[in-house]
Amino acid sequence: MPSGSAPFAGPPRDSRTLERDVVQLHADVERLLLISEALWRIVREKCELSDADLIREIEKLDLEDGLPDYRKKPTPPRNCPKCQRVLSKKRAVCSICGEPVPIEPFER
Ligand SMILES: [Zn+2]
Repeated sequence: MPSGSAPFAGPPRDSRTLERDVVQLHADVERLLLISEALWRIVREKCELSDADLIREIEKLDLEDGLPDYRKKPTPPRNCPKCQRVLSKKRAVCSICGEPVPIEPFER
């Protein structure tokens, strides 16, 4: 993908559509933060953990790629278990042979 191009497939979007997309993405991020915080509160209480445990784990995860940037680098492409072709991260089945793509919950 050339630098600066949108990572989404499909026709070009007008500025109004892009603005709506940004508003929706902000709402999605807020909702996910709320869900994450609620889940953390449950886990912290049930497992008798502390916020320091969470921070330590976040830092450990962040540094897996060697960069302290609060991000994980994109996972490398996987190959189809049936035909061995490189799989698209955006498809639920192999575009060559139709084999279902195994779920990778934290793939980026
Ligand atoms: Zn395949």
